[in-house]
Amino acid sequence: MKLLFEKSIKGTSGHYVAPSDVPEYRLDTSLLRGKEPVLPELSENDLSRHYTQLEKRSFGVNDGFYPLGSCTMKYNPKINEVTSHLEGFTDVHPLQPDDTVKGCEEVIDLTKQALCEITGMDDMTLTPAAGAHGEFTGMMLIRKYHEKRGDSARTKVIVPDSSHGTNPATGTMNGFTVVSIPSTPDGYVDLDALRAAVGPDTAGLMLTNPNTLGLFDRNIKEITEIIHGAGGLCYYDGANLNPVMGISRPGDMGFDCVHLNLHKSFSTPHGGGGPGAGAVGCKEFLKEYLPEDFSEAEEGAKAKMEAHPDSVGKVRSFHGNFLVVVRALTYILSLGNEGIPAAAVQSVMNANYFKVLLSKKYHCAEPGLCMHEFVISMEEEHKEKGVSALDIAKGLLDEGVHPPTIYFPLIVHEALMPEPTDTESAATIEDAAEKFLRVYDKAMADPEAAHSWPLTTVIGRPDEVAAARRPHLRWEPDGEEEFGE
Ligand SMILES: *Cc1c(COP(=O)(O)O)cnc(C)c1O
Repeated sequence: MKLLFEKSIKGTSGHYVAPSDVPEYRLDTSLLRGKEPVLPELSENDLSRHYTQLEKRSFGVNDGFYPLGSCTMKYNPKINEVTSHLEGFTDVHPLQPDDTVKGCEEVIDLTKQALCEITGMDDMTLTPAAGAHGEFTGMMLIRKYHEKRGDSARTKVIVPDSSHGTNPATGTMNGFTVVSIPSTPDGYVDLDALRAAVGPDTAGLMLTNPNTLGLFDRNIKEITEIIHGAGGLCYYDGANLNPVMGISRPGDMGFDCVHLNLHKSFSTPHGGGGPGAGAVGCKEFLKEYLPEDFSEAEEGAKAKMEAHPDSVGKVRSFHGNFLVVVRALTYILSLGNEGIPAAAVQSVMNANYFKVLLSKKYHCAEPGLCMHEFVISMEEEHKEKGVSALDIAKGLLDEGVHPPTIYFPLIVHEALMPEPTDTESAATIEDAAEKFLRVYDKAMADPEAAHSWPLTTVIGRPDEVAAARRPHLRWEPDGEEEFGE
């Protein structure tokens, strides 16, 4: 497909700028650019077709089944778009006089209250812009807590080997040394390894429950007690709250601090790096370290901008991605006290149904019931026939299904990790299962052919390392080397 620049025809235009009715003003020549900018010139019709063609090449939740594990690609109700497009929310400025944005403040307050109730936390900030950013903020609170107590020996953060990659990264970015502890063969935290790892240097633990294998750790209370007993704090990665929201609460499991991905469980469209929100909740004793809180002070905008003296400071300008918060609140209020746990139960039911259907052929990494996602291993098939997780994922593209997450979690070889989410019907799951099983049979019957899948997409198997390390992101008029190359 040609780029806009390549489609450009000199002299074509698609804009409607009225002739200027003010005198021309000449900038000082020192401020002028040396060369005319190279901009594409197209008619509105051609421009419109260009973007529609691009759109057709992508795949989203609105196109079909999208079981990308750990990402909770659920359907996002359209009512969220109605509320988040209301002028009272879109046409506001963060420095506008306080008494003109009372509605926005109420949205923030109500969302915090609801999420505190859902997580069992006492206070919250909604400003972090993503899950990893929320983790980073949460771990800053924990670092500050130890600092304030003058306990500088606590330099280590314990992270199970089944964790999401952002956990060790967050620990390290916060200046901690990350200690990885192994899982038991059935996928849970190894309590003996945990007991052996804690000590006076333990700052805390970072844990996802259910973990990345889709398993809920039944020893969770014991785990948090071991950490607290050693003087550390417990951080809960709640990016995927989908299977437990409204049912069990990190606060009750013994966690001191948690982040949520509002753009996963609380229904904001995501992927492609779109705006997110990593809400961070904490227990009362950590509250004073939260980034400044805009909605608590009573008087005037200025008072609201002031942080607590012990705050870790701003992590994001103003109120973060406010419209994501509007979507989350819409979702919470439209589901209500009964709908939230019902969605959680449905996500678990759907995952287990899908797991049973796929188990006819595929080998699941863990036996028995899962939570909202599960992991398949292609290790055996890879050894025997050379069919890899990647082959299956590519084959699914030809079936019109978005592949699951692959090669994650790292502790399972040749992993495929489906998460059907709560918003898919039984019929969709059955249809997808048929496609997964068909791809399996085709791959096993002809492994050579499987290595060349997909056959129907515009791009087949790109060089993924080059795509990540040397992305070609900018068009250069005279073929100059790319920035970053
Ligand atoms: C998605 C996810 C994150 C990171 O969230 P981002 O918004 O992508 O930064 C962290 N932990 C877990 C378990 C996740 O699934």
